[in-house]
Amino acid sequence: MQSQLIHLFDSQLEKWELARRNFSELASVRVRELNVRGVDLQVHFNPARIKSSSAKIDAKSLAERPCFLCKKNRPEVQEEILWRDYALLINPYPILPQHFTVPHQTHKLQEILPHFSDMLDLATLLPDFLVFYNGPESGASAPDHFHFQAGTKNFLPLVKQRNVVEKQKICSSVFLWKNYLRTVLEIVGNQKNDVISAFLDIYAKLPIVGSEPMMNVLSFYENSSWHVLILPRKAFRPWQYNAEKESERLMVSPGTAEMCGIIITPIEEHFERITSEDIEDIFSQVSLEINW
Ligand SMILES: [Zn+2]
Repeated sequence: MQSQLIHLFDSQLEKWELARRNFSELASVRVRELNVRGVDLQVHFNPARIKSSSAKIDAKSLAERPCFLCKKNRPEVQEEILWRDYALLINPYPILPQHFTVPHQTHKLQEILPHFSDMLDLATLLPDFLVFYNGPESGASAPDHFHFQAGTKNFLPLVKQRNVVEKQKICSSVFLWKNYLRTVLEIVGNQKNDVISAFLDIYAKLPIVGSEPMMNVLSFYENSSWHVLILPRKAFRPWQYNAEKESERLMVSPGTAEMCGIIITPIEEHFERITSEDIEDIFSQVSLEINW
C-alpha cells in the first residue's frame, strides 16, 4: 500500500499542475523558528492555505458549496486508490512534504468512533506516514464529509519531539505529555483491542461539543506498536481570528498542524507579527486542560 501511495504521489505531481506548484512552493515557504517555554515551534507563511484557513464551516455555507471530497466534484486529474470504504488522494493544498486526504467514499459526517479501528489499520499499512484526523469543530475544513489525512511522518515538531518530551504515565498504556503548552495524551500498545479500549476510555472522559469531544488525533505504527496522540480541544479558533482591530487580528485556524507545532498563516503581515506570547495564548484558548 505504501509504495502504491508513493507512486500515486509522483504520478499526480507529473500530471497535475496545481498540485505540482503547491508542493514545490511548500518547500520554500518562509519559516520562523520559535522556542516557547522550552518547546520548539515554527510559524509558516503559506499563502496557498488561505482556502483552508478561512474556510466557513457553518451548516449554511457547507450546504451551499459543492463538497470537494465527493468524487463527483473532484477535479478529473485527481486520481484515487481505493481501500475499504475510503479513497486515498493527493492533497493539492499541502502542509506536509507528502500529504494525502483519505475521504470516505460516501458523503457522511466527520466522526471518529466508527472509523478509529480503520485509522489504526491504515497506520499499519503506511509505516513511514502519519494518519491523522481533525474533529468537525477542530480544524476539519469539510466536517460534513468524513476524512482522515495522511502524510510524511517525521515533519511536525510534535512528532519529532515524541522521544524527548517528559511524560507522565496515567495508566498501563496512556501517557500525558508534560510542560508542552498544550494537552497531549499518548496511547501506546501492540494489541489493537487494548489501543481501541484506551481510546474509548479517553473519549468518554472528554466533554461532548456538538457531535463528539473536540480533538485532533494522530496515529502511527512504530516498533510493532501503535502510537495514538490525542489533543483535546475546547475551541476551534482563537479570538484573534475575528479580532475587530486589524492590528490584533491573526489568521490562524488551528488544526492538527498547528496543534503539532506548525502555526500556519496565509497572511504575510500576521506571519511577521505573531509572537511567542500570542502562540502560548492561542494554545491556552484552544487546548483543553484535563485533570486525571
Ligand atoms: Zn462530500
